[in-house]
Amino acid sequence: MTSIRALAFGLLLPGFLMAAPRLDDKPKASIPKAHPVVGCKDTKMYHEPDCKWVKEIEKAGTRVDFPSISAAKKAHMKPCADCMNKK
Ligand SMILES: [Zn+2]
Repeated sequence: MTSIRALAFGLLLPGFLMAAPRLDDKPKASIPKAHPVVGCKDTKMYHEPDCKWVKEIEKAGTRVDFPSISAAKKAHMKPCADCMNKK
């Protein structure tokens, strides 16, 4: 009987250790307030960081980072039709 318990504990413990970092990650993902966007000095448009155009912006060397959409708007940036329309 004790060996079954030890086995169960051995199975549960790694699961618990695996779950711990996931709990730490949660607050980071669930902060919608700070929504950084990537702006382009050339086109005056801002994008989601994972937008396909961000790669092109980096190639062109015209990347400007904004901490939020409102910051980008203050800098007279317009939303990208590709990535910002999905919201
Ligand atoms: Zn975009």
